[in-house]
Amino acid sequence: MKYGIIGYSGRMGQAIEELFSEAGHQLVYQKDEAGEKELEKPEVIIDFSLKEAFAETVKVIEQKQVALVIGTTGLDQDDFAELKRLAEEVPVIQSFNFSIGINILSELINKVNQYVDQDWDIEISETHHRFKKDKPSGTAIMLGDLIDRDELEMHSKRLGSEFGEHEVDFASTGEVLTLKHRAYSREAFTRGVLISAEAALDLDAGFYTFKDILN
Ligand code: NAD
Repeated sequence: MKYGIIGYSGRMGQAIEELFSEAGHQLVYQKDEAGEKELEKPEVIIDFSLKEAFAETVKVIEQKQVALVIGTTGLDQDDFAELKRLAEEVPVIQSFNFSIGINILSELINKVNQYVDQDWDIEISETHHRFKKDKPSGTAIMLGDLIDRDELEMHSKRLGSEFGEHEVDFASTGEVLTLKHRAYSREAFTRGVLISAEAALDLDAGFYTFKDILN
C-alpha cells in the first residue's frame, strides 16, 4: 500500500512508519509542522497530529480524494461534522483509541451498564505521558460517552512516559468493580492503525469507527 502520514515526525507518526514499513507498505506522503513532502499520490492518509492541524487535514483529503484514518484527539463536535461531510466522499475511519484492549473494555462497560443503576458511583481515571496536551484524554471521553450519567467524574494525570492507562470504577456502598487497561507500548495503537489502513482500501465512502473495522 502507498500511504501518507500527517504528524509524521511525532511520537505516533514515527511508530506508525516503523510498523508499516515492517509490513511492506510504502510511505509516499508526509506532513508535519515543518511542511509536506509528496513522492506519489497515497491510497490512504493517516492523521496522528494535533487538533490545530485538523482544518489542513480536511483540505488535503478533499484535494486528494483518498481514504483517511484519523486518531488525533481533542476534536470537537464541529470537527466531527466535518469528518462526516468528508465521509460522503471517501472512507473515514476514526477512533480516539486504536488499541484492541480498549475496544474490549468498551464492550465490558456496555455489559456492566446492564447491572448498575443510578445509585452506583462511576468514575474514570487516566494517566498519560507528560507531553500529552489534551485533558481528559479522548479515550476517557469516548468511554464516558458509554455511561448514562449527566455528570461523570474524570481524573487525569500527566506523568513521565506512560503510554496510556484508563481505569473505570463502579462502586455501590458494598462493593467496587474496576475495569483497567494499560498500553505498554505504542504498538498497542499502531497495530490497530495498520488493520484500519489495510481495510480502508476495500471500503466504500462512509464514516467508520475502529470498532466497525474490528467487527
Ligand atoms: P506529538 O506531539 O509527538 O506529534 C504531533 C505531530 O503533529 C508532529 O509531527 C507535529 O509536527 C505535527 N503537527 C503539529 N501541528 C501541526 C500542523 N499544524 N500541521 C501539520 N502537522 C502538525 O504527538 P503524538 O504523541 O504523536 O500524538 C499525536 C496525536 O495522536 C495526539 O492527538 C494524540 O492524543 C493522539 N493519539 C491517539 C491515539 C489513538 O489511538 N487514537 C493513540 C495515541 C495518541
